[in-house]
Amino acid sequence: MKSVKTHCIILKSTVVREIDKAVTMISPDIGIFTVTAFGACKSRNRFGGKLEPFSVLSAELTVKMRGIEAEYQIKELTLLDSFANLTTSYEIVLTAQFFCEVLLKNNTAGEDRRMFSLLYHALRALNQCDGEESKNAVVINFLVRYLAFTGFFAPLIECSSCGRAFNDNEPVFMQRSDHQPYCSDCVYGDSVPLEPELRSYLNTILKIRFAQTSEIPININGGRKLKAYLISLLKELSGFRYKTLESLH
Ligand SMILES: [Zn+2]
Repeated sequence: MKSVKTHCIILKSTVVREIDKAVTMISPDIGIFTVTAFGACKSRNRFGGKLEPFSVLSAELTVKMRGIEAEYQIKELTLLDSFANLTTSYEIVLTAQFFCEVLLKNNTAGEDRRMFSLLYHALRALNQCDGEESKNAVVINFLVRYLAFTGFFAPLIECSSCGRAFNDNEPVFMQRSDHQPYCSDCVYGDSVPLEPELRSYLNTILKIRFAQTSEIPININGGRKLKAYLISLLKELSGFRYKTLESLH
């Protein structure tokens, strides 16, 4: 039997048959996979305490091939980070669950390394945030990067119709029909206007690393507006309902 060493983040952990756990994780090397941890709910189980959602682990797994499907079992686990602050408030837990739900629901095979890194940095930033403003900034950063990775969002530089470069102080209009940016002369139908400071915020955060984005300020109303827009974009593009969003404000 082959074994692999990899890092993982736990996306979901469910109790099965009262004493076991079905644990779904993402690894930069394997992507999203589920293992059954037998006896994980017993108090003396050596893996039990490490199998909570959002935990970052270094894992050694055994791999058994069943046809073309790989079946993984846990051999060794080391807890690297448990992001303890994520469970201190209901809103924060839901936000962390929302990030996991986005990765679980959408097929991002082939982007495993990027998705693992995105989730890791989003959970780390969420674990450090202090209040609505910084929490909204983490959600915006997660969504805009996720949408950019999947090809549905690009820096807002020029009008999609006339091709004119936007100047620094004009609003852009995100047209509902195709989600592209337009200038005020070209936009038609339903659209979401983004003020110059919001466009500049989005363009800036797409150029820097996730860990640096907490230094870029965004005001509370602008943050709320961008968050609501990106969530509506995600829902429309993926076509899914997100269970965690229904309880999140
Ligand atoms: Zn135009």
